[in-house]
This record gives sequence, C-alpha cells and structure tokens, in this order.
Amino acid sequence: AAPGGDARLDQLPIRENLRGKSPYGAPQLTVPVQLNTNENPHPPTQALIDDVAESVREAARELHRYPDRDAVALRTDLAAYLARQTGVPVTVENVWAANGSNEILQQLLQAFAGPGRSAMGFVPSYSMHPIIADGTDTQWLPVFRGADFALDVDAAVAAIADRRPDVVFVTSPNNPTGHSVGIADLRRVLDAAPGVVIVDEAYAEFSEAPSAMTLIDEYPAKLVVTRTMSKAFAFAGGRLGYLAAAPAFIEALLLVRLPYHLSVVTQAAARAALRHADETLGSVHALAAERVRVSKALADSGFHVIPSDANFVLFGEFTDAARAWQAYLDRGVLIRDVGIPGFLRATVGLASENDAFITASDELAATEL
Ligand code: PMP
Repeated sequence: AAPGGDARLDQLPIRENLRGKSPYGAPQLTVPVQLNTNENPHPPTQALIDDVAESVREAARELHRYPDRDAVALRTDLAAYLARQTGVPVTVENVWAANGSNEILQQLLQAFAGPGRSAMGFVPSYSMHPIIADGTDTQWLPVFRGADFALDVDAAVAAIADRRPDVVFVTSPNNPTGHSVGIADLRRVLDAAPGVVIVDEAYAEFSEAPSAMTLIDEYPAKLVVTRTMSKAFAFAGGRLGYLAAAPAFIEALLLVRLPYHLSVVTQAAARAALRHADETLGSVHALAAERVRVSKALADSGFHVIPSDANFVLFGEFTDAARAWQAYLDRGVLIRDVGIPGFLRATVGLASENDAFITASDELAATEL
C-alpha cells in the first residue's frame, strides 16, 4: 500500500467548495476507435514531426536557461495565424498563450473572477468551465439551455441582467452541442454583460461562422476570445492554447501567470507546428465533410442529431445513455457520455473510424437502449 494511504480525501482540510466534487474525467481507454475527446484524428505529417524534432533539438541547447517568459516569438506567430484566419489584424500585443486553453481560462478566472465573484455559463457546455470556476473559488452560475440546446439569447440576456456575473462564458461552436453563436447574438450578450465575456472558440476552425474576434475593437474592455491548437491543429498532445483580446487583458494576465509557464520545448514545438498550419488545417474540410456524412447516417438510422458546426455530433435519444455508451464500447467504439440524459457525443474521426461508429449505431438503433 502507498505510504499515507490511510488518510482519506474528506479528512483533508480542503476548501469547502471543493468537497464532494468530481475531477475532469474523460475515460482514457485504449480501444480500436477513439471518438471521445474531439481531437483531430489525422496524425501529424512526417514533415511536421521532423520539424518539431529538429526545433526541439535546437531548443534543447538552451535547456539550462529559463524560457522566454513572455513567449514573444510564439505569440507573434499565433497573431499572424489569427490575422490570416479571421481577417482581424491582431498583433503580438493582442495574443497570449499558455499550456492549453484550459490554462488560459484558469488565468482569466484568476484575474477577473475568484472569491466573491461569479461566472455564468449556458449549459450544457464545456465541462471544464465550472471546474475551473471551482478551482478559482468563483461562484458558478449555470443557465440551462432549452430542448434544442441552442443559445437562447433572450434568456441569456435576462439571466445576465438578473445575476450580473463578473464573467460570462459563451462557447462557439458549443461543446457538446455543436452550435455556433452569430455576431449579432454575441453583441447582445456583450451589451448586457457588466464584466468580461469569454468566447471559447476551441472549435472555430471547423465552423463557417465569423470569429468573435471581429468584435474586439468594439468591446475592448469586455471581450476575450480563446482558442486552442488541440483541435483543428492536431496538437492536443503539445498543450498550447491562446487568446486574442485588447492588449490590456494581456497586462492583466501577466499578474497571475506563473513565470516561465511555457517551456522551451513547448514554445519550440508549437512554433514548428504553426509553420505547417496550412497542411494541418487541410484536414478540417475533410472532417467537416465526414461530420455531414456521420450526421446523415445517424439520422437515417432514426437518431435525433443536433446540427453541429464542430468536429463532433450530439445525438440520441437513448432510454439509458450510460448503457448505450457501454454498448458502443463493447463494439470497440469509445464515444462520450457528457451527462445529458438520453444523449451521447461522438467525435468525427477518420472515414474508417466513422464507418465503425456508423455500423455500431445501426446495430444499436435496432435495440432497446
Ligand atoms: N474549450 C472547449 C470548448 C473544449 O472543448 C476544450 C477541449 N475539450 C478546451 C477548451 C480545452 O482544450 P485545451 O486545454 O486542450 O486547449
């Protein structure tokens, strides 16, 4: 037994707001078809692997020194990518980077939320938003979406006016439901919000909708747009998230970030991956086409499919989603039970993986699950 194994979690003097909570827990299982964490299923090209390896080898000469604390070269590259992708002329001063957008979100709540403050989200949405709120001792204010899972902007604006949250999360496209939020609707949320509005655009590259970044100049003291290299960029293992906002937001985050949070290795690898952005992002169109194919196949089998702009689909309805999830797993297909009664979420994979998922879905559609 491990030394100290007699002490139980509930005996520790943990903060009250963390008692009884569950950690983030997407199962990490080794099965043939893994469609559960919304990664890009296309492995890196040999050219990208070689470039990352060579860049890290070069960077390793400096491993005895701390990295560039402000990651200026990487942020400059990210700004160039964002300007190209969105048409919004952001520069290095508008961009901040961290170990995954989860760390970005945590830094934002550290600076703009925390004890005595609140954050609102429109649920179901990304499960880490409330977990990061708990971790930063921020009061979490969930507002429930209607039966179609779309963002009800009237309800959102009313809830914001009623609760006056310090931070509002809008996820676009929303995980796990797949809807994008249009610019006119975002303006209404921004006009209503008394504090910061974080638009979480982790899946933006999969959507045709314009980026919220087009609104930064209009709402410089309110709007933050977060992004990640984990999804479209096929760099989930590299851990690199970033944001675009007015330069003052980056000044605020410098107050809470840990010094040298992005390692020499991370910065070098991310810059190398960015040099291959065009080839990597080439897979986005293929994945969008596969999303259409998977959605149609599910609908043809009689499932209710929520229209998605992202690289996943939410579908149902099952009598018992947990049992259905297990039935997929028994067929070698790992998808995600996101805790919405009757629904499961499947990431769009490679064509062969999607075929396996569709075959399993056909079988399950015919059974009482
Ligand atoms: N936001 C959303 C909406 C997500 O779905 C995810 C990943 N599941 C993230 C942020 C965080 O991703 P990462 O930390 O890998 O950038």
